[in-house]
Amino acid sequence: MGKVLIIGAGGVGTVVVNKVAQNNRIFTDIMLASRTKSKCDVVAEDVKRRTGVTIKTAQVDADSVPELVKLFNKFKPELVINVALPYQDLTIMDACLECGVNYLDTANYEPKDEAKFEYKWQWAYRDRFREAGLTAILGCGFDPGVTSIFTAFAAKHHFDEIHYLDIVDCNAGDHGKAFATNFNPEINIREVTQKGKYWEDGKWVETEPHEIHQPLTYPNIGPKESYVIYHEELESLVKNFPTIKRARFWMTFGQEYLTHLRVIQNIGMARIDEVEYNGQKIVPIQFLKAVLPDPGELGENYTGQTSIGCRIRGIKDGKERTYYIYNNCSHEDAYKETGAQGVSYTTGVPATIGAMMFMQGLWKKPGVFNVEEFDPDPFMEQLNKQGLPWHELFDLDLEV
Ligand code: NDP
Repeated sequence: MGKVLIIGAGGVGTVVVNKVAQNNRIFTDIMLASRTKSKCDVVAEDVKRRTGVTIKTAQVDADSVPELVKLFNKFKPELVINVALPYQDLTIMDACLECGVNYLDTANYEPKDEAKFEYKWQWAYRDRFREAGLTAILGCGFDPGVTSIFTAFAAKHHFDEIHYLDIVDCNAGDHGKAFATNFNPEINIREVTQKGKYWEDGKWVETEPHEIHQPLTYPNIGPKESYVIYHEELESLVKNFPTIKRARFWMTFGQEYLTHLRVIQNIGMARIDEVEYNGQKIVPIQFLKAVLPDPGELGENYTGQTSIGCRIRGIKDGKERTYYIYNNCSHEDAYKETGAQGVSYTTGVPATIGAMMFMQGLWKKPGVFNVEEFDPDPFMEQLNKQGLPWHELFDLDLEV
């Protein structure tokens, strides 16, 4: 049915390639391209062994629009799944417009020299995608992605008005390393060292990093200290669900992780500007990435599970209602199925489902959209089939 090009051969890319290959009745021609072709070849070989499906591979520098255009014109994909880094979002969208290709990603654009992610850069492409008759689907990982779709599903089926939204993200896994990040260290550290921010009564409230915290109880895991941080889906959710009075995002961190993070910051290793070293210019956080464990390699010894969901309070038929929808994902099961750990899995599976929705014409309309703007139902059905089953709890104490 469709030709798909995946850009980025990291942890998330590995899962996407596995899952599109498992669904090769929908994705009939698959190519994986990245900066380092040898990494694509390793993934392609592994997927061939697991599924019997042949994956084409190619080298591309996704910072270069001409290189992307050359590749798109040669392979002629219907859809590009961008699971490279957020820095490449705009160049890939430019190339899509030039070649008439549809677009999907899992993280919003962020300039390299400023740790600030916002949708404004990608929303500025709305008219151009609409006029070209092309679809761009933004933020189709787990968070953003499934958390946004959970909210849309709650709004469609369980609430007349959503008033309070708390997205809760727990990783109770153990990878056995003193310190490692679960996805690209540069992106991850930039995200979690930012000031906190949440939405309340029509405006953003800023906090110091990790200022607000409390234990929250996660299903099958128990209580874990959880911290309010800013996360990108809040920006689009409060626009698309204007009845929301307060929206926050909570993430669990262990004490050991926070101590390492504090030291990394205090000694300047989280800096994103260039410093002179031995006559060469280096960016400390990029050097740090080179010496930290590769998140893609954490899978083999990763035990435990993730639990991510939405805790919602609002009104249905004039009565107050509370609701909790979540998925738990086992790192070990994810590794057995795809060779990648749970955080890559919970991102790559939704990206694949979003691509399925597009290929099947269910999420196909000209313009640039956040995932909560589409019908959540067919996506929710696929989550249960593709390895991320969800559960609902009603009328409970939400703790927040
Ligand atoms: P990795 O660092 O493991 O992989 C990134 C891949 O992109 C690597 O293969 C890298 O190539 C490639 N790449 C980087 N720059 C370029 C370039 N200029 N041209 C071509 N390829 C390039 O990251 P992850 O797989 O962990 O994460 C992928 C994306 O998923 C990120 O954008 C991340 O923010 C997002 N994400 C989203 C989540 C969600 O829930 N929504 C959760 C987790 C991640 P090389 O190997 O040569 O470096």
